[in-house]
Amino acid sequence: MIYDIQKELKHAEDWELSQTDETMDVEEIAEMASRAISYCEGSCPSRDLVGEHRCYCVRARFPSPEHYELYQASREEFKKMLGIMIINTALPTK
Ligand SMILES: [Zn+2]
Repeated sequence: MIYDIQKELKHAEDWELSQTDETMDVEEIAEMASRAISYCEGSCPSRDLVGEHRCYCVRARFPSPEHYELYQASREEFKKMLGIMIINTALPTK
């Protein structure tokens, strides 16, 4: 794989500044939040270079950083909800 460092940095910067009209369904984000999407499996040269919050894998999935942040926030909420569900199930009810 020919890996152009300058190009990758530029792509990451462009993506961070992107004001895209592309939209993602709220449903789509919720769905991803519920099953914890994975990106960067194993080594990721892009992540090593530009950081995990904007590497190629993240950029491939989210049209803009805003969408990525929304996903992360939803994921956190989902985990909290899951915790409450587990507690409700585990504790005896009277
Ligand atoms: Zn990656």
